[in-house]
Amino acid sequence: MATREELRQRIVDAIDAHRDEIVEMAEHIRQNPEIGYQEYMASDLLARKIDEQPGFEIEKPVANIDTAFRATRHGRGDGPTVAVIAEYDALPGLGHGCGHNLIAGSGLAAAIGLNTVMDELGGTFEVLGTPAEEGGAGKVFMAEEGIFDDVDAALMVHHGGNMTGAPTQYPDGTCLAVAHLDIEYFGQTAHAGMDPYNGRNALNGLIHFFSGVDSLRQHVHMETRLHGIITHGGDAANVVPGYTAGKYYVRAASKEQVEDVLAKVKQIAEASAAMTMTEVKITQHPTCYDMRPNYVMGRQYNANMDEVGLVRNGGREGRAYHSTDFGNISHMLPSVSGMFAISEDPIPGHSQEVVDCSGSEFGYEQFIKISKAMALTAFDLLYDKELMGSVKEEIATRDN
Ligand SMILES: [Zn+2]
Repeated sequence: MATREELRQRIVDAIDAHRDEIVEMAEHIRQNPEIGYQEYMASDLLARKIDEQPGFEIEKPVANIDTAFRATRHGRGDGPTVAVIAEYDALPGLGHGCGHNLIAGSGLAAAIGLNTVMDELGGTFEVLGTPAEEGGAGKVFMAEEGIFDDVDAALMVHHGGNMTGAPTQYPDGTCLAVAHLDIEYFGQTAHAGMDPYNGRNALNGLIHFFSGVDSLRQHVHMETRLHGIITHGGDAANVVPGYTAGKYYVRAASKEQVEDVLAKVKQIAEASAAMTMTEVKITQHPTCYDMRPNYVMGRQYNANMDEVGLVRNGGREGRAYHSTDFGNISHMLPSVSGMFAISEDPIPGHSQEVVDCSGSEFGYEQFIKISKAMALTAFDLLYDKELMGSVKEEIATRDN
């Protein structure tokens, strides 16, 4: 019977032995970006690579989503189920400007690592391929279909610009809840010069909505973020716009706060329609909850980062102001994300810099290390009953 240390070493050695193959796959995904729900190449490639590991069963598609999958590796007996989350969607017009090619790669690395020890462990290891993190809420739909029901703990990696570390105390690692809206205004077209009095202007409806929300900004909690774009502003300058459309996000510190602000935003949309004698239609997509990391898992993750020689610089302190569909999962079960630097200097999120750094030598070096740290943490959770006990106790007794 191998010792804990021997099993851990096996995981690290396996990832090292497959380093080139893992990096190659992440690079291929980076160079061939696919946006949310269209990640056919990336999800097929990742699922196929995991399937090459003996002992994994692949289910694809799952949850009625073509690009979602579950890869399962059973251990030798009963025990908890630990899942690693793999994202692979890119950003429209930008490519892998959020580095999700590396998250996909970490799923393969973890599968390769854990595969070498599962025959000697109780429980189950899973890689969950979760599409459309960027605004598509893939994990929310997967959760609704029960994909996370049997999962005891979920782990992932995410680039952190120049920051490395996992959160260890509240409110570190938390982020904002978000509601996504599609807003459409319907008016009446008319000749803008000859008979504008016959028109009802759908663009005015949308513009007054945007400026109405600007008046609300003064009266929301400081973490609230209200932002959107116009996707259709009309068809011709000499036609009174009969149809306009936009996308709007409402972000706040909790889903309760999002709902509160959302009610006001909807009232403004209706008021703007009344003011311009147009009609408004609002389509609301699933709300992503604020992230609630498991700090026991965060501390174990950090210890493993230290062990694989990944230099931590504290991660990001306090609440971050992005949102993620991983938030919903973190409300259901113990979840944590390990942040890793892909650049030595600060870089903007969702940028060409991220696209470049996610394929840089430094980025790949760091990515292999964080993948090892995540795989070791998954192993610890499967191996160490006491650790899993404190992980579960934390989520059961969380009160803030
Ligand atoms: Zn991301």
